[in-house]
Amino acid sequence: MSPTIRQYEEAFGKWINGRKCFSFWKGRVALHAILQALGVQEGDEVILPGYTCVMDVNPIMYLGAKPVYVDIEPNTYNLDVNLLEQKITPRTKVIIAQHTYGYPVEMDAVLQIAGRKGIAVIEDCCLALGGKYKGKTLGTLGKAAYFSFQWNKPYTTGLGGMALCNDAGLAEKIEKLCQDRLIPVPVKKSLVLQAQLMVYRGFIYPRTTALAQNVFRWLNKKGFVVGSSTNQELAGNVAPDDFFMGMSDVQARAGLRQIARLERNIDHRRKMAKMYDELLSQRGWTVSQLSNDMDPVLVRYPVRITEKWKAVEQAASRGVELGTWFESPLHPKETSVELYGYRWGMCPQAEKAAEQVVNLPLHPRTSEKTIRRTVDFICGFKQA
Ligand SMILES: *Cc1c(COP(=O)(O)O)cnc(C)c1O
Repeated sequence: MSPTIRQYEEAFGKWINGRKCFSFWKGRVALHAILQALGVQEGDEVILPGYTCVMDVNPIMYLGAKPVYVDIEPNTYNLDVNLLEQKITPRTKVIIAQHTYGYPVEMDAVLQIAGRKGIAVIEDCCLALGGKYKGKTLGTLGKAAYFSFQWNKPYTTGLGGMALCNDAGLAEKIEKLCQDRLIPVPVKKSLVLQAQLMVYRGFIYPRTTALAQNVFRWLNKKGFVVGSSTNQELAGNVAPDDFFMGMSDVQARAGLRQIARLERNIDHRRKMAKMYDELLSQRGWTVSQLSNDMDPVLVRYPVRITEKWKAVEQAASRGVELGTWFESPLHPKETSVELYGYRWGMCPQAEKAAEQVVNLPLHPRTSEKTIRRTVDFICGFKQA
């Protein structure tokens, strides 16, 4: 393994209370590694919220295990702990606690239920970097956690993922798995990703935006873009041959740069979320009230409106950055949820949220002016 990659794993682990970390090509690969190391196999059940990304479900199905969906509670969009126990069967092996949008899951309740039954808890921190629950950093509460550095996550390394272990035995198993089976990133993929990262950074510095867009279009036309998901991943339950891929140096370098500015990133997110709270309250909107146990760092700011898709359409033409996650209990909208063992009506709160929730930007490029403009735009719609 290259020294840069090791350095990034160590820096990331150090940032989260000195935990042992393993880097991967994507977040979903990190989840796959954790599930395998936990011994999840054919016939086992894995519980997760029915308000997630389909890419979270694939790694479960690749192992022949069965995803079991639990509905969310409407305030934090996290799994409803009151519904958790009834989902547990003798085959339940893992509970995935996804900290949706960055809101911490009610971890005490989850850990208590899981502990009683000897079930492992994995934290999905793909949308939650730096948040805390009862003073503990998210990712350090379960047996393991995983993170994503895909384009829209708390920070990006292009694509990228990390598994974090709170258990020495499990860490050893993941290490062995990586030694035996991890596929190195092909040079071409890595170069293309580097180009994409340069384009992405181009958007950060507006002066070069036009150039960046042209380069991106050109790359796209030539088929030179590393997509977040392949068609195969959107369709089936068989892992692509090159699924279990490691991280590239390009990603690790980008990650090291991002860790150096992580505190600033987090401060910014907190400040901007507070500003949304204040501005929306002033306009008579209800904003979410959390218990003092929860200290979230949000990736995006979710709001519920009555005409989601009309708003999304208008936002595009008005230059407002409106996010659509989650469009379906198993995001995106195009997912054939039945292929993943989801039946409509299974998680009514999640289905309702998918119809209503849009999310507003909080990332480091979001200025106070952007926030005001976004609030003006969203207040043209009715809160749901
Ligand atoms: C993005 C995301 C993932 C998957 O991350 P990738 O790096 O794209 O594999 C998993 N879970 C949640 C909640 C996510 O938002």
